[in-house]
Amino acid sequence: MAPVIIIGAGHNGLTTAFYLARAGLSPIVLERRSMVGGAAVTEEIAPGFHAPALAHAIGPLRPTVVRDMRLEGRVEFIRPDPRLITLSPDGHALAFSTDVARTADAIRPLSSADADAYPQFCATLERLGAFLGGILDVTPPSLDGRAVGELWDLLKTGRRFRALGRADSFRLLRWLPMPAADLVAEWFTSDLLQASIAARGIFGVSQGPWSAGTGAALLLNAAFDPVPGGSSVQVKGGPGALTAAMAEAARQAGAEIHTNAPVAQVIVRDGRAVGVVLEDGKEVLGRAVVSNADPRRTFLDLIDPIELDPTFLTRARNYRSRGAAAKINLALSALPSFSGVANPSDLKGRVQIGHSLDYLERAFDASKYGEIPSKPYLDITFPSLHDPSLAPPGAHVMSIHVQFTPYTLSHGWTWPMAGVELRRVVLDTLERFAPGIQLLVLHQQTITPLELEQTYAMTGGHILHGEPSLDQLYAMRPILGWAQYRTPIEHLYLCGAGTHPGGGITGAPGRNAAREIIKALK
Ligand SMILES: Cc1cc2nc3c(=O)[nH]c(=O)nc-3n(C[C@H](O)[C@H](O)[C@H](O)COP(=O)(O)OP(=O)(O)OC[C@H]3O[C@@H](n4cnc5c(N)ncnc54)[C@H](O)[C@@H]3O)c2cc1C
Repeated sequence: MAPVIIIGAGHNGLTTAFYLARAGLSPIVLERRSMVGGAAVTEEIAPGFHAPALAHAIGPLRPTVVRDMRLEGRVEFIRPDPRLITLSPDGHALAFSTDVARTADAIRPLSSADADAYPQFCATLERLGAFLGGILDVTPPSLDGRAVGELWDLLKTGRRFRALGRADSFRLLRWLPMPAADLVAEWFTSDLLQASIAARGIFGVSQGPWSAGTGAALLLNAAFDPVPGGSSVQVKGGPGALTAAMAEAARQAGAEIHTNAPVAQVIVRDGRAVGVVLEDGKEVLGRAVVSNADPRRTFLDLIDPIELDPTFLTRARNYRSRGAAAKINLALSALPSFSGVANPSDLKGRVQIGHSLDYLERAFDASKYGEIPSKPYLDITFPSLHDPSLAPPGAHVMSIHVQFTPYTLSHGWTWPMAGVELRRVVLDTLERFAPGIQLLVLHQQTITPLELEQTYAMTGGHILHGEPSLDQLYAMRPILGWAQYRTPIEHLYLCGAGTHPGGGITGAPGRNAAREIIKALK
């Protein structure tokens, strides 16, 4: 039987490969880089120092994907508690535990009213998250929506929506289009608490906490994991260990995986995808082609425009995929100490620098105008605290997500030149919270938005393969009418983060896509 070709070995491509192999569809994965994993990789940043090059916390992955690929037996998942510590410039820090009462106790010194409101907020987020969680693993409806399975899914969603009750269903409808900032301000008064929770609505997106619709991103995150501090799941060995294990699971199920195999074009004959041409000119033919590349790259770079309807092409061009994130990874001679963090083991989760809604919004404002924020929003992990083998004895690696780093710079600045300024701003910011940290830096790696695009193939440097805004979610991801993992070209499918339910290391798009492909091909 002719194989199914999968372009890209990101974690979603690997997930799709696993399920297709299990269904006997003989997938062949073609990855352009020398390693599998896409944005979920561990790379050597200096001799003896290994860091999560890009993503550092895991989605979390959908439990079905973990179970089916038997990932618990292949890697060690670490679930730190506290999950998140948000630092304040006044020397305080707020720790978010998985335990609601413990977090409420941590909030009490900031505001006893906020501490009292926190358990109710958690319970509400859990209920709304559970409702939305029900649609993560379901294919969104098509425009005509006539298929029996689709109607059944819609009916089930409608019944679950009614079961939410009046208060929660109205809350959900109100919260989705709201700015995350207004949402949290309805519950809490403390800057530190508001900023920590609202950050979940802006991580990885090109919008600030006061942008309308960031409430939807916050709720989507809650659907994967409702704890307000967000997911902090890590993997021993970094995300690269996870994707290596996913590749192993896919291979064992029967998938073939080739690295250093960049696809230049999808071959289309009579409106049907029949294979791909590699950059070296070699053709690989198959019964279907599945793209793990982002939607813009797939439709605008890998397909001859003549094969697509002009209206569809315009929509693909209008798909918003301009990112606002960079990554700085540091090799440190020792673990830095942060003001307000007495116990170094509290650094095992994520550390946030971004203590108020104003701070976060100003960082966004700068990036909106093409400037590097002078006070950036940082999301940090120390993977070597979980796996000392990632650094030499006593030394550490620090993984820093720099949110609101503009892809397009103003004032004549260009990437990668501006990386020097980005690094200066980030190190100066860190110095304020961890005095002396600059003296510990042995080596640094800066990955600019341009490198996200050029090295990691994320168009526009968008870490989620496109903005998760209300007009690009669910039945509109990536394009209204094409949210069922199919495309206007017969036997060409999408399986990456640019499809429902979007970015993050979750495996959900990959699994959903596989289900639709198996249904179509079997
Ligand atoms: C800096 C950064 C930080 C992040 N932080 C987090 C985090 O903490 N937690 C979290 O859950 N998520 C995080 N994310 C988001 C998450 O990593 C991504 O949304 C997710 O990994 C996307 O997975 P994917 O498999 O859909 O696509 P990708 O991982 O992008 O994989 C796509 C693959 O396709 C390959 N490819 C593209 N074009 C071709 C071609 N022509 N030929 C062959 N191969 C091709 C690429 O090389 C790549 O390997 C982060 C991402 C980045 C970049």
